[in-house]
Amino acid sequence: MPISGNDRKVVTKICNIIKKHKNFLLTTHQVPDGDGLGCELAFLRILKRLGKNVFIINEVASSQVYSFLPGYSEVQVAAMYKGEKINADVTIVFDCSAKQRIGRILSFVGETKIINIDHHYGNTFFGDINWVSETRSSVGEMCFFIAKHLDCLDKGIAECFYVSILTDTGSFKHNFNVETISVVAELLKVGIDPEKIADNVYHNNSIAALNLLGHALVNLQYAPDLRTAWTVLRKCTFEKTKATEQDSELVIDMLQTVEKTDFVFLVRERNNEIKFSLRSRKSFNVRKIAEHFGGGGHDSASGFSIKNASINSALEKFFRYLKERS
Ligand code: 5GP
Ligand code: MN
Repeated sequence: MPISGNDRKVVTKICNIIKKHKNFLLTTHQVPDGDGLGCELAFLRILKRLGKNVFIINEVASSQVYSFLPGYSEVQVAAMYKGEKINADVTIVFDCSAKQRIGRILSFVGETKIINIDHHYGNTFFGDINWVSETRSSVGEMCFFIAKHLDCLDKGIAECFYVSILTDTGSFKHNFNVETISVVAELLKVGIDPEKIADNVYHNNSIAALNLLGHALVNLQYAPDLRTAWTVLRKCTFEKTKATEQDSELVIDMLQTVEKTDFVFLVRERNNEIKFSLRSRKSFNVRKIAEHFGGGGHDSASGFSIKNASINSALEKFFRYLKERS
C-alpha cells in the first residue's frame, strides 16, 4: 500500500476517533468542488455503514453534475440553518487550508473535535487532528486510505474518490503521480465505471453554464507581454444567464486552452469582493501570486479575493503587481 509510516500513524489515529464517536458533521470549503464533495459523500457512506449519525453542511450547493454520486441529495446548505446549533462530536473538514475558508459552518457547531484533512501548501493546522499531505493529488486520494483502514471501500465510495481525483487533476492533466495511479487502480478493482463517471461530470452541462461560457469567451482578454489571458464574470452576467458560481468551472477549463500563456485567470464579481482564480500553464507558479494578495492554493491552481473593490480597481492592482514582478 503506497502510504508512508507517518501517514499510516495519522490514518490510524483518525480511524480510532471515528470508531469512538457517534455524531459527525462533514464540511469543505465555500463553493465545494469535486474533491471536497467527493470526500464528503464518501464519508457519508462510510460513517453510515459504521452506524454513525452524519450530516453534510456546505456554504452553498455543489454543481448538479455531481448529482449522480450516492448521497448527493442529502447535502445541506448553510442557508437552511437559522441559528439552531448542531451537536457534532467530530467535525471533519476536507480540502480546506484555513478555518475561514469553511465559511459560516463552524458557527453552527457547539463543542466539537475537528479533523482537518487537506493537501494545500500553507495549511494552518487548525484542527485537533491534522493530516496534510501536499504531494497528494486530492483529498480523495488521501481519504481512500481511511476507507481501506476501516475496511469500508465499496463501489459507491470508490466512485466518490474517483471524482475527487479526476476533477483535482483536471482529468489527469496535472498534479498526479504514480501513487495517485496506484490508488486509481484500487478504485477500478472495486468496479467503478470511469467512462460513466467522466460522462456524468463532463458531458452534463446546463444551458445556463454554457451561456455563461459564451459570455466569458466573447469577453476574453489577452496580454502578450505578460503571457496571460483572462475574462471577467460580472454579477449581471450570472443573473442574465441564470448560471451559478459553480458553473464558472467550465470557463476556467476553457481559459487554460489559450495559446502562448504562462498562466490564465478568471475574475468574478461577488457581493463585497472580487474573486480571482488563477491557473498556471507548465511550471509557472500561481500560488506565489495569490499569496501576495492574501490568498493561496497550489502551485498550479490558486485564488484570492480583493474586498470592497470595483472590478476595474481590483484588476488595476493586480496588473500593477504583475508588471512590478515581471
Ligand atoms: P479556485 O480558483 O477554484 O477557487 O481555487 C483554486 C485553488 O486555490 C483551490 O485549491 C483553493 O482552495 C485555493 N484558493 C482559492 N481562493 C483562495 C483564497 O482566497 N485563499 C486561499 N488560501 N486559497 C484559495
Ligand atoms: Mn483538493
